[in-house]
Amino acid sequence: TPRLRLQNITKRYGSTIANRDISLEVMPGEILSVLGENGAGKSTLMKIIFGSVVPDQGQFFFNGKRVNISSPADARKLGIAMVFQHFVLFDTLTVKENILLGLPEGTSLAKLEKEIKEKSKHYGLEVDPNAVINDLSMGERQRVEILRALLTNPQLLILDEPTSVLSPLALKALFKTLRQLSSEGVSIIFITHKLNEIRALSKNCCVIRGGQVVANVNPQEISEDD
Ligand code: ADP
Ligand code: ADP
Repeated sequence: TPRLRLQNITKRYGSTIANRDISLEVMPGEILSVLGENGAGKSTLMKIIFGSVVPDQGQFFFNGKRVNISSPADARKLGIAMVFQHFVLFDTLTVKENILLGLPEGTSLAKLEKEIKEKSKHYGLEVDPNAVINDLSMGERQRVEILRALLTNPQLLILDEPTSVLSPLALKALFKTLRQLSSEGVSIIFITHKLNEIRALSKNCCVIRGGQVVANVNPQEISEDD
């Protein structure tokens, strides 16, 4: 059973059709990449899956069940977490404080600290819980974003162009984390406009252009100029 299945999703902005009749699915533990140029409709699709944009048409199925996703709260309840391209962190607060803000009210600070320690160790997302965001590199900030997402124990993790701010070393570390999550059954949707970088990560790639799915390919089997 697919973790998530989208069926015939359409979203218009005035006369622009940002997503046209998009259907796709991601299995448990699958790393699905979504490839497309600027303006192809990737962000719109991600926002639809995360509930921050509501489609004009289409259906969602989660673990085989028809569901409604009409707000980020709906998505979170299902176990969908999002790592945004432009980090949503408060620069003058610490890692711990930022993570706490993203969690349900009443989360215990002591328990949180323990969980941050465990999860960051387990997933190779080392970061000092008491560091102030302003003092962190982009790679470290992304680790905080991912940690924050993982503390909600997601079944599906969406990453929107996660590599644009990363050094090659940080990129390698990110891929390692994602492969580990995948091996534990977490589904991943990885948005990018670079074919090259998903070759090492994903066997299933959904190519979108002009708001439509134009191909489903294995990135390991195609070359840059196809
Ligand atoms: P991508 O993420 O692949 O760059 P987007 O989903 O951001 O693509 O955009 C797809 C199309 O929809 C573009 O033509 C874009 O200008 C348009 N679009 C996206 N969001 C809005 C919006 N909020 N209002 C109007 N047009 C939008
Ligand atoms: P990205 O594609 O990386 O998310 P964009 O610069 O395409 O960044 O879009 C930034 C924001 O503006 C997004 O929320 C997008 O939905 C919105 N947007 C994109 N195109 C338009 C547009 N033509 N009119 C209004 N809003 C838009």
